[in-house]
Amino acid sequence: MNRTEELQANLADVHQRIANACLAAGRQTSDITLIAVTKTWPANDIALLAQLGVTDIGENKDQEAKEKFAQLAHLGLTWHAIGQVQTNKAKSIATWADVVHAVDRPALIGALAKVTRPSPLELLIQVNLDPNPTPGRGGALPTQVLSLAEQITSAGEFRLGGVMAVAPLGHDPAPAFAKLQEISKHLLKSYPTATKISAGMSDDLEIAVKYGATHLRIGSSILGHRNYQR
Ligand SMILES: *Cc1c(COP(=O)(O)O)cnc(C)c1O
Repeated sequence: MNRTEELQANLADVHQRIANACLAAGRQTSDITLIAVTKTWPANDIALLAQLGVTDIGENKDQEAKEKFAQLAHLGLTWHAIGQVQTNKAKSIATWADVVHAVDRPALIGALAKVTRPSPLELLIQVNLDPNPTPGRGGALPTQVLSLAEQITSAGEFRLGGVMAVAPLGHDPAPAFAKLQEISKHLLKSYPTATKISAGMSDDLEIAVKYGATHLRIGSSILGHRNYQR
């Protein structure tokens, strides 16, 4: 199998898993956006994925993403910054990302608001779903979500997209994703257009779909196991 055939087969598997999960949850596959997480993989893989119909790309390192974007900007893909963002990288991230998934503190919103862009950046609020959250691990506390939403919508040229989370390590993802869905419902009362729920990775996409995820961030199931040395 060449790389295109490998990616095509993996994508078909992932689409089948999403279809099965949607069927089980009584949802439509058209409600789900698949984000192919291409961190550590070369720009050429992204070009192949684009040929195979992938429209959304997730990256989590600013420098790496910026280099790939520079080669592939002409493809018209939607680029998602899915990882933790250092405040001093905000300006750089806004040059390649269309959506920033890990917004979890006022300082980051302030830094992103200073950047001038041709179109508004979309921001998702990352929620820390760990039952015993440790500060600084990434993600706002559930009780901070509404005030961050308020800051995002009053700070500048942003679109508030919704919420994002990573299942807490060492815990069952189901109650965590259920909680995220509750937080999303609560946010929607004040911000009816903030409909997105970014949750679910290769190992837990079915559970995420069950609890309302609209955006799945899938890396290894599409691209294979990552080698961080490359
Ligand atoms: C790497 C990464 C993913 C993809 O993880 P897989 O298990 O490879 O699907 C999803 N979300 C975030 C935030 C990531 O950093």
